[in-house]
Amino acid sequence: METQNKAPEEPTGKVVKTDAEWKKELTPEQYHILREAGTERPNGEVYEEFKHQGEGSYHCAGCGALLFTSKEKFDSGCGWPSFYDPAKAQNVTLREDASLGRVRTEVICSKCGGHLGHVFSGEGFDTPTNERYCINGGGLVFVPAKSAEKPEEKPEESDQKS
Ligand SMILES: [Zn+2]
Repeated sequence: METQNKAPEEPTGKVVKTDAEWKKELTPEQYHILREAGTERPNGEVYEEFKHQGEGSYHCAGCGALLFTSKEKFDSGCGWPSFYDPAKAQNVTLREDASLGRVRTEVICSKCGGHLGHVFSGEGFDTPTNERYCINGGGLVFVPAKSAEKPEEKPEESDQKS
């Protein structure tokens, strides 16, 4: 999952790009998830990263829209990043997905239409909503809370001794 120290700019309206533009801007993994409704490997590197992330916000890797925060994060044990509620409901759209021979509810970014994952409800999780937003971490950008509060201009990546 990509991590940024500064929150991306929130898109003001719909973000529409051609397939070629998306391909150019996104990493192959991001493109596969967001634009081809791909699913990342469960219990993979991204999930491990997610489990160890502290407070912060999760933005769409395609357009920067705020989607989730660590407040709604919970450990469902399913192998993918899970949240019980979107941070900004207007940035998340739900639609019926009848692929794979069963009806599921797909979660997409309202701003750019990128595929994020699926939402399942009534599974018995002890959360305020009893919903599990099962999200591909690879389609998100994580912004740690600390760096957002402290906009210091001293990046420590300046020693390039190569
Ligand atoms: Zn988006």
